[in-house]
Amino acid sequence: MYQQYLSVQKLEVSLGSPNDKNNLFSHQNILELDEQSLFPTKQAEALDQLNFSRSFVPKSLGGDLHSFEELVLKFKSIFRRDPSLGLGYGATSYMGSIAAMMWGNDEIKLQVANTLLQKKTISIAYHEKEHGNDVLHNEVTGKVSGNLIKLSGEKWVINNAKDSAGLTVFCKTSESCGAKAYSLVYVDKKQVNLSTVQYLDKIHTLGVRGCKIAGLRFDNTEIKNSSVISSLGSGFDITLKAFQITRATIPGMSIGIVDTALRMVLRFSLKRSLYKEKIIQFPQVNETLVNAYINILLCDCISTMASRALHVVPEQMSIISSIAKFYIPKRLQSTLDELSVVLGARHYVRDGEYGLFQKLLRDYPVIALGHASDVICANTILPQLNSLLQKLKISNSTKENLDNIFDLQSALPIFQPEKLRLSNLGYNDIINSLPQFEAYLVDKISNHDIPSNLKENIFYAITQIKIVLPKLEATIKQSSIKVQNFSSQLYNCVGKYCQIHIALSCIYFWLNNIGKISAYFDEGLWLMLALNAINKDFLSIDKDKLLVLQKKTLENLIDLDSKNKSFSLVPINYL
Ligand SMILES: Cc1cc2nc3c(=O)[nH]c(=O)nc-3n(C[C@H](O)[C@H](O)[C@H](O)COP(=O)(O)OP(=O)(O)OC[C@H]3O[C@@H](n4cnc5c(N)ncnc54)[C@H](O)[C@@H]3O)c2cc1C
Repeated sequence: MYQQYLSVQKLEVSLGSPNDKNNLFSHQNILELDEQSLFPTKQAEALDQLNFSRSFVPKSLGGDLHSFEELVLKFKSIFRRDPSLGLGYGATSYMGSIAAMMWGNDEIKLQVANTLLQKKTISIAYHEKEHGNDVLHNEVTGKVSGNLIKLSGEKWVINNAKDSAGLTVFCKTSESCGAKAYSLVYVDKKQVNLSTVQYLDKIHTLGVRGCKIAGLRFDNTEIKNSSVISSLGSGFDITLKAFQITRATIPGMSIGIVDTALRMVLRFSLKRSLYKEKIIQFPQVNETLVNAYINILLCDCISTMASRALHVVPEQMSIISSIAKFYIPKRLQSTLDELSVVLGARHYVRDGEYGLFQKLLRDYPVIALGHASDVICANTILPQLNSLLQKLKISNSTKENLDNIFDLQSALPIFQPEKLRLSNLGYNDIINSLPQFEAYLVDKISNHDIPSNLKENIFYAITQIKIVLPKLEATIKQSSIKVQNFSSQLYNCVGKYCQIHIALSCIYFWLNNIGKISAYFDEGLWLMLALNAINKDFLSIDKDKLLVLQKKTLENLIDLDSKNKSFSLVPINYL
């Protein structure tokens, strides 16, 4: 077992089986709480007992966080039990604290880390009702007055607004306009006059009903000016960098939700008989199950790539993190929709054996729409496409970077936030390594017996990618790119670029881990199906052969479930 999976395996044992009705984290308990729109308080206390919040406090500040890959894996275990708990207990505090712990002065870093280590929550407060994603028109002000900052104005849909011990607030600290007018400040509620903070009523949401989401209003709330994270006027810059960390990691956490949904639908399909047959025999049903499994694996691959890349190529994360947030939530959202068709009427029923499914279906969209939707991520990728495509820039360390990102046995370097950049400056090792691909592949497979059809299909995909890239470059060159105001054609260009990045990521992942995971992994059936799922043009295979791949993959899926193992590239044991 890989080192990074050991703590997750331990966590799974501590949390127990969600199918055991006597377990605190059982699906039944979670569903009952959701029905009453109640936060899973006892479950959160149990996580406190396990010191879960140490997972997102860096080692240098007294916590356990040293690998974002491991952090995502741990959160996946929470999200697979309850998205409200995942978001409300942990992910919100992680988002609310990361900027302070990475860029705050020593005092703020320790203050925030200690708050989390004392098992308290921290909120993140960007959103304003009137401005949504248009944060450079935000109106919450932070008036600098001597050594104080006075906060005024209203933030909306803020998770744990009232219960949190502190919050990171995005506010306007200068009269001028533009990015430099904004700062990020950390508000420690113990240190402010709480009569100047008004909490607004709970906001009722379609999903994650247990989450305590509300607005809050500041009225000349005084904080020390040393509460500024980084420096006055750096709020937008720090935000974009902090979001590179969270966009690279949060989408992967949500894979746990789809693992639970697929497990439920798979078991239903194995049990349900119609016309004297189990419905899993129906081609539409088993194809949906296989597609769902492959979508999970390919999102797992993207998430692993992005969370490891944070350590290996932080300077390339502007693009890599946006690709993860652009692609994973959309893909998994549609996977859930497809699975709901197999569950039929039961996907709409709120109680009974499959009652949890409708909750997962309602909960999932917050992953896509919250914290930058696909459109917002497209806004980061699009203006950089010209420089990324016009000349594939490679660095001296490209090969080494690919090895470190994709080889799960390779130890990750310590994350260096100061290396994050607002633009990739044309570098993306994963796509830009394309001219060296053949040499890289030959080097990696020299000691392995690779099925010839798999090799042929990989080369076919690479050839296709080499055809698509120049066409994409030509389209981008001819287009006048207006950020925030782009056509669906340009949105599709972003989609194509992401597809290429993701297809190569899957290939590199396979190449770097052959012989280390399982026979199914080595055989590469999943890889061929993943390439096909990413873009039908990336795989040349006739229908009969495709059916064989699907059949064997379904067998693997059923086998994993019967052994109670996770649906992931590296399966771990569930209870
Ligand atoms: C359950 C839940 C919990 C949340 N928790 C928090 C929290 O704790 N803290 C917090 O700060 N926020 C929180 N939010 C807010 C969230 O993170 C997003 O900021 C918010 O959902 C997006 O805002 P909006 O829908 O008002 O988008 P708007 O910006 O009003 O967007 C409206 C439409 O315009 C499009 N659009 C916007 N900008 C662009 C662009 N640049 N280019 C092209 N199209 C664009 C959008 O795609 C969308 O279709 C939460 C939201 C929800 C639903």
